[in-house]
Amino acid sequence: MSAAQEHGEQRHQDRHLVKAVNVIKHFGHNEVLKGVDLTVDRGEVVCLLGPSGSGKTTFLRLINQMETLTGGRIWVDGELIGIEERKGKLHVRKDSDIARQRSRIGMVFQRFNLFPHMTALGNVVEAPTKVKKISKAAATAEAMALLEMVGLADRARYYPSQLSGGQQQRVAIARALAMKPDLMLFDEPTSALDPELVGEVLTVMRELAAGGTTMIVVTHEMGFAREAADRVVFMDAGVVVEEGNPNEVLLNPRHERTKTFLRRVK
Ligand code: ADP
Repeated sequence: MSAAQEHGEQRHQDRHLVKAVNVIKHFGHNEVLKGVDLTVDRGEVVCLLGPSGSGKTTFLRLINQMETLTGGRIWVDGELIGIEERKGKLHVRKDSDIARQRSRIGMVFQRFNLFPHMTALGNVVEAPTKVKKISKAAATAEAMALLEMVGLADRARYYPSQLSGGQQQRVAIARALAMKPDLMLFDEPTSALDPELVGEVLTVMRELAAGGTTMIVVTHEMGFAREAADRVVFMDAGVVVEEGNPNEVLLNPRHERTKTFLRRVK
């Protein structure tokens, strides 16, 4: 067996797609994450809940290397994120390595962050053609299938400014999926939307969850967490306070901090 095959086998056998160990993040003197341990299995949907400022977004941004770790380690698909170990020493990864790692993770933001000068279709084909060098024709066919999946095939030629917030967010989801990521990160994807547009985005996310996409979702939508999450993780003040099956944590929280939070969001 070649080394590559062996490596592939190891990856396959490791059911954890994401493994974070003792993750610490400081912004100046502000210790935002104080030793977070979290694993996410392949195909698992994990909702990250917790009060504003508890470090949820920062944790997602660390996985996607939009921030650098102060301490701890994160592995995605068995590979250390941002750093590598060579001959017993840690080295910062080279940019091309970081770009490769990031290309395997899709991220959807609170504010849709679409390219304003490109149509919906243009937004979705951009990364596959520029980063993956996929032909325009193949990328367009794939993008149309994704726009169809999010219910926007008829809006392919519209610009973001011509779309509602819910439609823009669905384009953003299609754009992230176009890179065929191993992992999808959602950072409060519905919190910037008018209430009547939240449902259409959650419907797409439910479909993805049901289809086996590995997802970490920061959300205040308790209904979504209850129905779509395999596990919910409650964070407060930079630590994981409790985690478990959504029904256990949401209906019978053990910790006072979780109870207080749930009383407030319900
Ligand atoms: P949450 O997503 O749970 O609301 P965040 O991860 O956004 O929490 O923020 C956690 C803390 O980190 C907050 O106190 C916030 O002000 C701080 N923080 C986040 N990003 C930065 C940054 N780039 N620079 C300085 N402080 C930051």
